[in-house]
Amino acid sequence: MSLNVKNVDSLNFAGKKALIRVDFNVPLDEHFQVTDDTRIQAAVPTIQKILKDGGSAILMSHLGRPKGGPEDRYSLKHIVSAVEAALGQKISFASDCIGEEASQKAAQLGAGEVLLLENLRFYKEEENGDAAFAAKLAKLGDVYVNDAFGTAHRAHASTAVIAANFSQKVAGYLMESELTNADKVLGNPERPYTAIMGGAKIADKILIIERLLEKVDNLIIGGGMSYTFAKAQGGSIGTSLLEADKLDFVLELMEKAKAKGVNLILPVDTVIADDFSNTANQSVVNKGEIPDNWMGLDIGPKTRELFGKVILESKTILWNGPMGVFEMESFNKGTKAIAEYVAEATRHGAFSLIGGGDSAAAVNKFGYTDQVSYVSTGGGALLEHMEGKVLPGVAALAQ
Ligand code: AMP
Repeated sequence: MSLNVKNVDSLNFAGKKALIRVDFNVPLDEHFQVTDDTRIQAAVPTIQKILKDGGSAILMSHLGRPKGGPEDRYSLKHIVSAVEAALGQKISFASDCIGEEASQKAAQLGAGEVLLLENLRFYKEEENGDAAFAAKLAKLGDVYVNDAFGTAHRAHASTAVIAANFSQKVAGYLMESELTNADKVLGNPERPYTAIMGGAKIADKILIIERLLEKVDNLIIGGGMSYTFAKAQGGSIGTSLLEADKLDFVLELMEKAKAKGVNLILPVDTVIADDFSNTANQSVVNKGEIPDNWMGLDIGPKTRELFGKVILESKTILWNGPMGVFEMESFNKGTKAIAEYVAEATRHGAFSLIGGGDSAAAVNKFGYTDQVSYVSTGGGALLEHMEGKVLPGVAALAQ
Protein backbone atom coordinates (compact mmCIF):
# COMPACT_ATOMS: atom_id res chain seq x y z
CA MET A 1 0.00 0.00 0.00
CA SER A 2 1.32 3.45 -0.85
CA LEU A 3 0.51 5.10 2.50
CA ASN A 4 1.81 3.60 5.71
CA VAL A 5 -1.23 1.44 6.32
CA LYS A 6 -1.07 -1.84 8.21
CA ASN A 7 -3.35 -4.78 7.69
CA VAL A 8 -5.04 -7.15 10.15
CA ASP A 9 -2.02 -9.48 10.11
CA SER A 10 -0.06 -6.84 12.04
CA LEU A 11 -2.22 -7.41 15.13
CA ASN A 12 -3.18 -10.26 17.42
CA PHE A 13 -6.84 -9.77 18.24
CA ALA A 14 -6.95 -12.11 21.26
CA GLY A 15 -9.26 -10.59 23.86
CA LYS A 16 -9.95 -7.59 21.60
CA LYS A 17 -13.20 -6.29 20.23
CA ALA A 18 -12.67 -5.32 16.59
CA LEU A 19 -15.07 -2.73 15.23
CA ILE A 20 -15.11 -3.56 11.52
CA ARG A 21 -16.53 -1.30 8.80
CA VAL A 22 -17.72 -3.71 6.14
CA ASP A 23 -19.62 -3.11 2.92
CA PHE A 24 -22.74 -5.24 3.29
CA ASN A 25 -24.70 -3.08 0.87
CA VAL A 26 -26.10 -6.18 -0.84
CA PRO A 27 -29.06 -6.50 -3.22
CA LEU A 28 -32.30 -7.82 -1.66
CA ASP A 29 -35.36 -9.18 -3.46
CA GLU A 30 -38.97 -8.31 -2.63
CA HIS A 31 -38.93 -10.89 0.19
CA PHE A 32 -35.79 -9.27 1.66
CA GLN A 33 -33.65 -12.24 0.68
CA VAL A 34 -30.06 -11.51 -0.30
CA THR A 35 -29.78 -12.17 -4.06
CA ASP A 36 -25.99 -11.80 -4.31
CA ASP A 37 -23.81 -12.27 -1.23
CA THR A 38 -20.48 -11.45 -2.93
CA ARG A 39 -19.89 -8.48 -0.63
CA ILE A 40 -20.58 -10.53 2.50
CA GLN A 41 -18.27 -13.33 1.32
CA ALA A 42 -15.60 -10.75 0.56
CA ALA A 43 -15.42 -9.73 4.24
CA VAL A 44 -15.28 -13.28 5.64
CA PRO A 45 -11.46 -13.75 5.63
CA THR A 46 -10.93 -10.61 7.73
CA ILE A 47 -13.67 -11.51 10.21
CA GLN A 48 -12.36 -15.06 10.52
CA LYS A 49 -8.79 -13.99 11.15
CA ILE A 50 -10.02 -11.87 14.06
CA LEU A 51 -12.21 -14.62 15.50
CA LYS A 52 -9.43 -17.22 15.10
CA ASP A 53 -7.07 -15.00 17.09
CA GLY A 54 -9.60 -15.10 19.94
CA GLY A 55 -11.09 -11.70 19.28
CA SER A 56 -14.68 -10.69 18.69
CA ALA A 57 -16.15 -8.82 15.74
CA ILE A 58 -18.60 -5.93 15.71
CA LEU A 59 -19.75 -5.40 12.14
CA MET A 60 -21.08 -2.08 10.89
CA SER A 61 -22.35 -1.22 7.43
CA HIS A 62 -24.81 0.80 5.43
CA LEU A 63 -27.54 -0.71 3.24
CA GLY A 64 -29.28 1.19 0.47
CA ARG A 65 -30.11 4.85 0.67
CA PRO A 66 -32.35 5.52 3.67
CA LYS A 67 -33.33 9.12 4.12
CA GLY A 68 -31.56 9.63 7.44
CA GLY A 69 -33.98 7.70 9.70
CA PRO A 70 -34.98 4.06 10.26
CA GLU A 71 -36.75 2.37 7.32
CA ASP A 72 -37.67 -1.29 7.66
CA ARG A 73 -36.75 -2.19 4.09
CA TYR A 74 -33.19 -1.03 4.69
CA SER A 75 -32.77 -2.84 8.01
CA LEU A 76 -29.69 -5.02 8.29
CA LYS A 77 -31.80 -7.53 10.21
CA HIS A 78 -32.76 -8.86 6.76
CA ILE A 79 -29.19 -10.01 6.12
CA VAL A 80 -28.50 -11.71 9.49
CA SER A 81 -29.10 -15.22 8.13
CA ALA A 82 -26.96 -14.55 5.05
CA VAL A 83 -24.09 -13.38 7.30
CA GLU A 84 -24.57 -16.46 9.51
CA ALA A 85 -24.45 -18.71 6.45
CA ALA A 86 -21.29 -17.04 5.17
CA LEU A 87 -19.53 -17.28 8.55
CA GLY A 88 -20.93 -20.68 9.51
CA GLN A 89 -21.99 -19.48 12.96
CA LYS A 90 -24.78 -17.65 14.77
CA ILE A 91 -24.40 -13.90 15.22
CA SER A 92 -26.25 -11.35 17.33
CA PHE A 93 -27.91 -8.20 16.05
CA ALA A 94 -28.38 -4.76 17.64
CA SER A 95 -31.43 -2.88 16.37
CA ASP A 96 -29.60 0.44 16.57
CA CYS A 97 -25.95 1.10 15.69
CA ILE A 98 -25.41 3.28 18.79
CA GLY A 99 -27.17 3.56 22.15
CA GLU A 100 -27.83 1.25 25.10
CA GLU A 101 -28.62 -1.99 23.27
CA ALA A 102 -25.55 -1.77 21.03
CA SER A 103 -23.29 -0.93 24.01
CA GLN A 104 -24.62 -3.82 26.08
CA LYS A 105 -24.41 -6.36 23.30
CA ALA A 106 -20.90 -5.19 22.40
CA ALA A 107 -19.79 -5.38 26.05
CA GLN A 108 -21.17 -8.92 26.42
CA LEU A 109 -19.49 -10.20 23.29
CA GLY A 110 -17.14 -13.12 24.02
CA ALA A 111 -14.13 -14.40 22.10
CA GLY A 112 -15.13 -15.79 18.71
CA GLU A 113 -18.51 -14.02 18.74
CA VAL A 114 -19.98 -11.62 16.20
CA LEU A 115 -22.38 -8.70 16.54
CA LEU A 116 -23.98 -6.95 13.57
CA LEU A 117 -25.15 -3.36 14.09
CA GLU A 118 -28.19 -1.80 12.43
CA ASN A 119 -27.78 0.34 9.31
CA LEU A 120 -25.40 3.25 9.93
CA ARG A 121 -27.28 5.44 7.47
CA PHE A 122 -30.33 5.50 9.72
CA TYR A 123 -28.40 8.47 11.12
CA LYS A 124 -27.75 11.37 8.78
CA GLU A 125 -24.64 11.95 10.91
CA GLU A 126 -23.04 8.97 9.15
CA GLU A 127 -22.87 10.57 5.71
CA ASN A 128 -22.24 14.00 7.23
CA GLY A 129 -19.08 12.63 8.81
CA ASP A 130 -20.22 13.77 12.26
CA ALA A 131 -17.41 13.43 14.83
CA ALA A 132 -19.70 13.01 17.86
CA PHE A 133 -21.58 10.17 16.14
CA ALA A 134 -18.27 8.58 15.14
CA ALA A 135 -17.09 8.79 18.77
CA LYS A 136 -20.23 6.97 19.94
CA LEU A 137 -19.59 4.16 17.46
CA ALA A 138 -15.93 4.06 18.42
CA LYS A 139 -16.79 3.31 22.07
CA LEU A 140 -18.06 -0.11 20.99
CA GLY A 141 -14.65 -1.52 20.00
CA ASP A 142 -10.96 -1.58 20.96
CA VAL A 143 -9.50 -1.75 17.45
CA TYR A 144 -10.83 -0.21 14.22
CA VAL A 145 -10.71 -2.27 11.04
CA ASN A 146 -11.81 -0.92 7.67
CA ASP A 147 -12.63 -3.57 5.08
CA ALA A 148 -15.18 -1.52 3.13
CA PHE A 149 -13.28 -0.60 -0.02
CA GLY A 150 -16.54 0.24 -1.82
CA THR A 151 -17.10 3.24 0.48
CA ALA A 152 -13.46 4.20 1.03
CA HIS A 153 -13.87 7.22 -1.24
CA ARG A 154 -16.36 8.72 1.21
CA ALA A 155 -15.31 10.69 4.29
CA HIS A 156 -18.21 9.34 6.32
CA ALA A 157 -18.31 8.88 10.10
CA SER A 158 -17.72 5.12 10.02
CA THR A 159 -15.36 5.04 7.03
CA ALA A 160 -12.89 7.76 7.94
CA VAL A 161 -13.79 10.16 10.78
CA ILE A 162 -14.02 7.36 13.36
CA ALA A 163 -10.37 6.33 12.94
CA ALA A 164 -9.11 9.30 14.99
CA ASN A 165 -10.62 7.64 18.08
CA PHE A 166 -8.34 4.61 17.84
CA SER A 167 -4.64 4.07 18.40
CA GLN A 168 -4.94 0.71 16.62
CA LYS A 169 -6.49 0.97 13.16
CA VAL A 170 -5.85 -1.40 10.28
CA ALA A 171 -7.07 -2.39 6.83
CA GLY A 172 -8.91 -5.66 6.30
CA TYR A 173 -7.78 -8.20 3.70
CA LEU A 174 -10.33 -7.06 1.13
CA MET A 175 -9.26 -3.43 1.40
CA GLU A 176 -5.66 -4.49 1.09
CA SER A 177 -6.13 -6.71 -1.96
CA GLU A 178 -8.24 -4.07 -3.71
CA LEU A 179 -5.42 -1.54 -3.29
CA THR A 180 -2.70 -4.01 -4.23
CA ASN A 181 -4.50 -5.04 -7.42
CA ALA A 182 -5.29 -1.45 -8.40
CA ASP A 183 -1.64 -0.56 -7.84
CA LYS A 184 -0.56 -3.26 -10.32
CA VAL A 185 -2.31 -1.22 -13.00
CA LEU A 186 -1.41 2.18 -11.56
CA GLY A 187 2.29 1.52 -11.09
CA ASN A 188 4.30 0.05 -13.92
CA PRO A 189 1.85 -1.95 -15.99
CA GLU A 190 3.17 -4.42 -18.51
CA ARG A 191 2.49 -3.25 -22.05
CA PRO A 192 0.49 -3.02 -24.18
CA TYR A 193 -1.87 -1.56 -21.56
CA THR A 194 -5.48 -1.31 -22.70
CA ALA A 195 -8.31 0.44 -20.88
CA ILE A 196 -11.86 -0.41 -21.88
CA MET A 197 -14.41 2.18 -20.86
CA GLY A 198 -18.14 1.81 -21.28
CA GLY A 199 -21.37 2.52 -19.50
CA ALA A 200 -23.88 5.28 -19.75
CA LYS A 201 -22.21 8.54 -18.79
CA ILE A 202 -19.02 10.30 -19.79
CA ALA A 203 -19.57 12.93 -17.10
CA ASP A 204 -18.89 10.36 -14.35
CA LYS A 205 -15.68 9.21 -16.00
CA ILE A 206 -14.02 12.34 -17.37
CA LEU A 207 -11.25 12.44 -14.78
CA ILE A 208 -10.38 8.79 -15.10
CA ILE A 209 -10.42 8.95 -18.92
CA GLU A 210 -8.08 11.96 -18.86
CA ARG A 211 -5.79 10.24 -16.40
CA LEU A 212 -5.81 7.03 -18.45
CA LEU A 213 -4.65 8.95 -21.52
CA GLU A 214 -1.38 9.59 -19.68
CA LYS A 215 -0.91 5.88 -19.08
CA VAL A 216 -2.44 3.57 -21.62
CA ASP A 217 -1.44 2.40 -25.07
CA ASN A 218 -5.02 1.68 -26.15
CA LEU A 219 -8.22 3.32 -24.97
CA ILE A 220 -11.33 1.47 -26.10
CA ILE A 221 -14.62 3.31 -25.72
CA GLY A 222 -17.95 1.51 -26.00
CA GLY A 223 -21.38 1.60 -24.40
CA GLY A 224 -23.78 4.52 -24.23
CA MET A 225 -20.95 7.02 -23.95
CA SER A 226 -19.65 6.19 -27.43
CA TYR A 227 -22.61 7.88 -29.15
CA THR A 228 -21.47 11.30 -27.97
CA PHE A 229 -18.19 10.58 -29.79
CA ALA A 230 -20.07 9.51 -32.93
CA LYS A 231 -22.17 12.68 -32.80
CA ALA A 232 -19.09 14.88 -32.26
CA GLN A 233 -17.61 13.35 -35.41
CA GLY A 234 -20.66 14.46 -37.37
CA GLY A 235 -22.58 11.18 -37.32
CA SER A 236 -26.31 10.59 -36.89
CA ILE A 237 -27.14 8.86 -33.63
CA GLY A 238 -30.96 8.93 -33.62
CA THR A 239 -32.26 8.79 -30.06
CA SER A 240 -29.13 7.16 -28.60
CA LEU A 241 -27.68 8.48 -25.35
CA LEU A 242 -26.10 11.88 -25.92
CA GLU A 243 -24.31 14.23 -23.56
CA ALA A 244 -24.57 17.38 -25.63
CA ASP A 245 -22.42 19.36 -23.19
CA LYS A 246 -19.56 16.91 -23.68
CA LEU A 247 -19.21 17.23 -27.46
CA ASP A 248 -16.26 19.63 -27.18
CA PHE A 249 -14.66 17.51 -24.49
CA VAL A 250 -14.69 14.39 -26.63
CA LEU A 251 -13.20 16.23 -29.63
CA GLU A 252 -10.42 17.55 -27.38
CA LEU A 253 -9.92 14.08 -26.00
CA MET A 254 -9.49 12.68 -29.49
CA GLU A 255 -6.91 15.38 -30.25
CA LYS A 256 -5.07 14.68 -27.01
CA ALA A 257 -5.01 10.96 -27.69
CA LYS A 258 -3.49 11.61 -31.11
CA ALA A 259 -0.88 13.96 -29.65
CA LYS A 260 0.10 11.41 -27.02
CA GLY A 261 0.19 8.49 -29.43
CA VAL A 262 -2.65 6.71 -27.63
CA ASN A 263 -4.71 4.46 -29.84
CA LEU A 264 -8.30 5.62 -29.19
CA ILE A 265 -10.61 2.94 -30.50
CA LEU A 266 -14.29 3.66 -31.05
CA PRO A 267 -17.10 1.38 -32.26
CA VAL A 268 -17.40 0.98 -36.04
CA ASP A 269 -20.91 -0.49 -35.99
CA THR A 270 -23.81 -0.64 -33.57
CA VAL A 271 -26.87 -2.69 -32.74
CA ILE A 272 -29.89 -0.40 -32.96
CA ALA A 273 -33.44 -0.77 -31.66
CA ASP A 274 -36.68 1.11 -32.20
CA ASP A 275 -37.46 1.05 -28.47
CA PHE A 276 -35.59 0.70 -25.16
CA SER A 277 -36.91 -2.81 -24.73
CA ASN A 278 -35.67 -6.38 -24.94
CA THR A 279 -38.37 -7.16 -27.51
CA ALA A 280 -37.83 -4.09 -29.71
CA ASN A 281 -37.13 -4.47 -33.43
CA GLN A 282 -33.40 -4.45 -33.99
CA SER A 283 -30.83 -4.08 -36.74
CA VAL A 284 -27.11 -3.41 -37.18
CA VAL A 285 -25.76 -0.24 -38.83
CA ASN A 286 -22.38 1.41 -39.29
CA LYS A 287 -21.42 3.99 -36.68
CA GLY A 288 -22.95 7.41 -37.20
CA GLU A 289 -25.66 6.03 -39.47
CA ILE A 290 -28.47 5.55 -36.98
CA PRO A 291 -31.88 6.50 -38.44
CA ASP A 292 -34.16 8.95 -36.64
CA ASN A 293 -36.19 7.35 -33.82
CA TRP A 294 -33.75 4.43 -33.48
CA MET A 295 -31.21 4.11 -30.69
CA GLY A 296 -27.90 2.30 -30.32
CA LEU A 297 -28.01 -0.23 -27.49
CA ASP A 298 -24.93 -2.40 -28.07
CA ILE A 299 -21.71 -2.55 -30.07
CA GLY A 300 -22.04 -4.38 -33.38
CA PRO A 301 -20.26 -7.57 -34.59
CA LYS A 302 -17.43 -5.74 -36.44
CA THR A 303 -16.73 -3.73 -33.30
CA ARG A 304 -16.65 -6.87 -31.15
CA GLU A 305 -13.97 -8.25 -33.45
CA LEU A 306 -12.02 -4.97 -33.58
CA PHE A 307 -12.02 -4.56 -29.79
CA GLY A 308 -11.24 -8.26 -29.34
CA LYS A 309 -8.10 -8.07 -31.46
CA VAL A 310 -6.72 -5.23 -29.35
CA ILE A 311 -7.66 -6.97 -26.09
CA LEU A 312 -5.95 -10.20 -27.11
CA GLU A 313 -2.70 -8.34 -27.81
CA SER A 314 -2.75 -6.63 -24.39
CA LYS A 315 -0.69 -7.48 -21.33
CA THR A 316 -2.57 -5.24 -18.89
CA ILE A 317 -6.33 -4.63 -19.11
CA LEU A 318 -8.57 -2.33 -17.09
CA TRP A 319 -12.28 -2.64 -17.84
CA ASN A 320 -14.94 -0.34 -16.48
CA GLY A 321 -18.47 -0.14 -17.84
CA PRO A 322 -20.59 -2.37 -20.10
CA MET A 323 -20.57 -2.15 -23.91
CA GLY A 324 -24.36 -2.00 -24.13
CA VAL A 325 -27.54 -2.58 -22.20
CA PHE A 326 -26.27 -5.94 -20.95
CA GLU A 327 -29.22 -6.31 -18.56
CA MET A 328 -31.38 -7.08 -21.63
CA GLU A 329 -30.58 -10.33 -23.39
CA SER A 330 -31.05 -8.80 -26.83
CA PHE A 331 -28.29 -6.28 -26.18
CA ASN A 332 -25.77 -8.23 -24.10
CA LYS A 333 -23.64 -9.71 -26.89
CA GLY A 334 -21.08 -6.90 -26.92
CA THR A 335 -20.46 -6.99 -23.17
CA LYS A 336 -20.38 -10.78 -23.18
CA ALA A 337 -17.87 -10.87 -26.05
CA ILE A 338 -15.59 -8.41 -24.24
CA ALA A 339 -15.75 -10.54 -21.08
CA GLU A 340 -14.75 -13.55 -23.19
CA TYR A 341 -11.84 -11.72 -24.83
CA VAL A 342 -10.60 -10.41 -21.47
CA ALA A 343 -10.75 -13.94 -20.07
CA GLU A 344 -8.83 -15.27 -23.07
CA ALA A 345 -6.17 -12.56 -22.78
CA THR A 346 -5.86 -13.43 -19.07
CA ARG A 347 -5.33 -17.09 -19.92
CA HIS A 348 -2.48 -15.97 -22.17
CA GLY A 349 -0.81 -14.12 -19.32
CA ALA A 350 -2.39 -10.66 -19.23
CA PHE A 351 -3.31 -9.01 -15.92
CA SER A 352 -6.98 -7.99 -16.03
CA LEU A 353 -8.70 -5.75 -13.51
CA ILE A 354 -12.46 -5.45 -13.71
CA GLY A 355 -13.70 -2.38 -11.92
CA GLY A 356 -17.00 -1.03 -10.96
CA GLY A 357 -20.47 -2.21 -10.19
CA ASP A 358 -21.82 -2.82 -13.67
CA SER A 359 -18.78 -4.42 -15.27
CA ALA A 360 -18.31 -6.62 -12.20
CA ALA A 361 -22.01 -7.56 -12.37
CA ALA A 362 -21.64 -8.40 -16.07
CA VAL A 363 -18.55 -10.54 -15.51
CA ASN A 364 -20.38 -12.37 -12.71
CA LYS A 365 -23.53 -12.78 -14.75
CA PHE A 366 -21.69 -14.28 -17.71
CA GLY A 367 -19.62 -16.55 -15.45
CA TYR A 368 -16.13 -15.13 -16.06
CA THR A 369 -15.29 -14.07 -12.49
CA ASP A 370 -12.71 -16.82 -12.05
CA GLN A 371 -11.19 -16.28 -15.47
CA VAL A 372 -10.02 -12.70 -14.97
CA SER A 373 -7.24 -11.56 -12.64
CA TYR A 374 -9.27 -9.45 -10.21
CA VAL A 375 -12.84 -8.23 -9.95
CA SER A 376 -13.02 -5.13 -7.79
CA THR A 377 -15.91 -4.69 -5.37
CA GLY A 378 -15.58 -0.93 -5.66
CA GLY A 379 -17.10 1.22 -8.39
CA GLY A 380 -16.57 4.87 -7.51
CA ALA A 381 -13.83 4.02 -5.01
CA LEU A 382 -11.75 2.20 -7.61
CA LEU A 383 -12.16 4.99 -10.16
CA GLU A 384 -11.18 7.65 -7.64
CA HIS A 385 -8.16 5.61 -6.61
CA MET A 386 -7.19 5.22 -10.28
CA GLU A 387 -7.63 8.97 -10.77
CA GLY A 388 -4.82 9.34 -8.25
CA LYS A 389 -6.92 10.65 -5.37
CA VAL A 390 -6.10 9.56 -1.84
CA LEU A 391 -9.19 7.77 -0.55
CA PRO A 392 -10.34 9.18 2.82
CA GLY A 393 -11.02 5.67 4.13
CA VAL A 394 -7.44 4.68 3.40
CA ALA A 395 -5.83 7.93 4.54
CA ALA A 396 -7.60 7.56 7.91
CA LEU A 397 -5.76 4.29 8.51
CA ALA A 398 -2.30 5.78 8.01
CA GLN A 399 -0.07 5.17 11.06
P1 AMP B 1 -22.43 3.32 -15.82
O1 AMP B 1 -23.10 3.32 -14.49
O2 AMP B 1 -22.16 4.68 -16.38
O3 AMP B 1 -21.23 2.40 -15.88
O4 AMP B 1 -23.50 2.72 -16.84
C1 AMP B 1 -23.98 1.43 -16.76
C2 AMP B 1 -25.28 1.34 -17.47
O5 AMP B 1 -25.12 1.81 -18.78
C3 AMP B 1 -25.87 -0.04 -17.58
O6 AMP B 1 -27.04 -0.11 -16.82
C4 AMP B 1 -26.17 -0.19 -19.06
O7 AMP B 1 -27.45 -0.74 -19.32
C5 AMP B 1 -26.13 1.23 -19.56
N1 AMP B 1 -25.80 1.32 -20.99
C6 AMP B 1 -24.72 0.81 -21.62
N2 AMP B 1 -24.80 1.06 -22.94
C7 AMP B 1 -25.95 1.73 -23.15
C8 AMP B 1 -26.59 2.26 -24.31
N3 AMP B 1 -26.05 2.11 -25.52
N4 AMP B 1 -27.76 2.89 -24.14
C9 AMP B 1 -28.31 3.03 -22.93
N5 AMP B 1 -27.75 2.56 -21.79
C10 AMP B 1 -26.59 1.91 -21.91
